[in-house]
Amino acid sequence: MLLFAASIFLCLAACGHSSTAENSPQGAVAPQAATFPPAPAAATTGGFDGAKAYKHVEQLVAIGPHPAGSEGIHRAQQYIIAQLKSFGCSVEEQDFHVPGTPAGDVAMKNILVKLPSDNPNILLFGSHYDTKLMENFVGADDGGSSTGVLLEFARLLCARKNAATIWLAFFDGEEDFNFTWTGQDNTFGSRELAASIALAGNVPRVKAMILVDMVGPANPVYKREYNSTRWLVDLIWSTAAELGYSKVFVKDQANIEDDHESFLSRNIPSVDIIDLDVPYWHTTQDTLDKIDPRTLAITGHVLIEALPELEKKAK
Ligand SMILES: [Zn+2]
Repeated sequence: MLLFAASIFLCLAACGHSSTAENSPQGAVAPQAATFPPAPAAATTGGFDGAKAYKHVEQLVAIGPHPAGSEGIHRAQQYIIAQLKSFGCSVEEQDFHVPGTPAGDVAMKNILVKLPSDNPNILLFGSHYDTKLMENFVGADDGGSSTGVLLEFARLLCARKNAATIWLAFFDGEEDFNFTWTGQDNTFGSRELAASIALAGNVPRVKAMILVDMVGPANPVYKREYNSTRWLVDLIWSTAAELGYSKVFVKDQANIEDDHESFLSRNIPSVDIIDLDVPYWHTTQDTLDKIDPRTLAITGHVLIEALPELEKKAK
């Protein structure tokens, strides 16, 4: 009972999607330029270009709100698919239909890139690209930042000879239709992909799932997510420490419900990289001016530099 109470407290305090405030719409939010310095040169961040990642965030924000099932999300899908194809990535669309959500029956689409390798074992990287269903909510950080990072990551990986099969997944329907995180009213896209992996008998092939979500704020702090797989957290966090980012990837823990749990529940090693401790979370203030290109670059740098170790784990 105590443990239960403690976990409830942790969840209320730090849970990915428990609401803290009912924010009333505050009028149309125009995309604003960041006031931060430009991203570091790609040569200093493993080839990952923070400026290119930032440009993607800018384009996604310019689309406006794009919750699951909306007009906007079709434009977000078109943007992501066109960018991936421009990098030479082959794109797979996983279309599915979710009946009986609080918003009725909703058509959703995961966007997948599956990079072949002589090694059939899979490393899976993911981000959700839908924004929360809220008037004027553009989700620059929540949805945009991680999608920008994953797109720039795709540009590098689709041109790289990879020592493991690599899948990149852009998830639809991570956000609740309800304002608060409620039961299974969330993580629709990641649960769909996890289910399809299980149905195909591919769970044993997936050696690691790395989720990015809310990776755009200035002075980011990524805490070790409590339910994430220990060795995978250690691998990512030690890579970050070697690169000099131990003040970003910190030792503190947080308990966060997110898309990685769809894979954890299938016994796939999974980790969530997220800074949820931002004052604008799930408010209309989650706008482009909150996005620091340097944070995108740091996040991408760690992903790129962690790849050789991840590939060893996937042998
Ligand atoms: Zn969210």
